[in-house]
Amino acid sequence: MLPHHLRNSCGVLSDLIRVCCHCRRERTTHDEWREHVPVAGEQLTHGICPDCIEMLYPDLAPTLLARV
Ligand SMILES: [Zn+2]
Repeated sequence: MLPHHLRNSCGVLSDLIRVCCHCRRERTTHDEWREHVPVAGEQLTHGICPDCIEMLYPDLAPTLLARV
């Protein structure tokens, strides 16, 4: 995975960064979630990661995760 400064300078990969609104991790292009490091000028969109879905909404997790 490219560091942020390289990713943001490479137009192909600089689309919206999806950040979990609960744990603040970001989703990588490989559908992995890792710690988010803020970068000036980045464009974020907020969602929720599978780990937080299972922790916060255990009853709904199977349904929600099936749609992710
Ligand atoms: Zn999360």
